[in-house]
Amino acid sequence: HADLAMYSAKEAGRNGIHFYDESMDARARSRLALEYEIRRGLENGEFEAFYQPRVDCFTGEIVGAEALARWRHPERGLLFPDSFIPACEESGLIRELDRQILAQVARQLACWQGQGRILQVSVNLSASQFADPELSSVLQQILQQSGCPAASIELEITESLLLAHDQHTLETLASLQAMGFAIAIDDFGTGYSNLAYLQNYPLNTLKIDRSFISGLPQRSAIPELITSLCRILKLAMVAEGVETHAQLDWLRQQGCQQYQGYLCSRPLSLRHFNELLEYSTAPA
Ligand code: C2E
Ligand code: MG
Ligand code: MG
Ligand code: MG
Repeated sequence: HADLAMYSAKEAGRNGIHFYDESMDARARSRLALEYEIRRGLENGEFEAFYQPRVDCFTGEIVGAEALARWRHPERGLLFPDSFIPACEESGLIRELDRQILAQVARQLACWQGQGRILQVSVNLSASQFADPELSSVLQQILQQSGCPAASIELEITESLLLAHDQHTLETLASLQAMGFAIAIDDFGTGYSNLAYLQNYPLNTLKIDRSFISGLPQRSAIPELITSLCRILKLAMVAEGVETHAQLDWLRQQGCQQYQGYLCSRPLSLRHFNELLEYSTAPA
């Protein structure tokens, strides 16, 4: 019996390795194919910004949005970031994606301003875009071409970018702020636990990660801590992933100014976001 068991384990192992090799190969091939498709998609303008409303917790007014990338794939339909962001990051194409999303957002903000709508839109900045020495000239060009003021754009970065804690990071943040951009820390609380950077870096906003909001109102210790941090450090606070009225009530009681989440809306195509804006400003 023991022999038999050993034999089948070996067989299974051999087969396992055999399959593993093949699937590695297949995976590498499909990753290459995906990169090729992304490159082509970027050339053909298949990526577009969706807008998730950012809402004033107290008045319910839509004060802005977060821009989130979507891929209108010619055969596979509408694709979400988890299916293309990792490949974009590995291949370096993420910088071009971020640039295109930023340019779309800036054009749209200028258009809204022409209609008398003052909104602020936040855009996710990848680590490699943030580290790119060309960043400020790319941004300058986007502002010039669109006529959008920098103050209408908030750049979202993640805590891990601040981990390095070096002079270069500090200078980059300071120069972005000097250009007029607001800076937000995305997914706050899920990354690095050294809070020193909150005092050392020029920042405007903390976005509390959805994982902390989902436990509210029962599990409130960390959201409470983050609310106090924002108050003391005079940072704006945005709650992410708000799905229930109970969560919103809790945030209001704590004085959190803004939220995003399915309670108001999922991220919407520009057309649907514009429709929502019409509704929300229509007389009640
Ligand atoms: P993120 O920046 O933290 O964006 C929030 C994510 O949470 C979005 O997922 C949004 O659709 C989702 N979400 C919002 N409200 C709720 C809610 O109430 N409940 C739940 N369950 N989810 C909610 P999405 O659009 O799939 O984006 C995922 C991530 O991909 C983003 O996380 C961001 O890190 C990245 N990403 C998206 N667009 C871009 C981009 O243009 N450039 C870069 N570099 N990254 C992007
Ligand atoms: Mg974000
Ligand atoms: Mg986030
Ligand atoms: Mg997140």
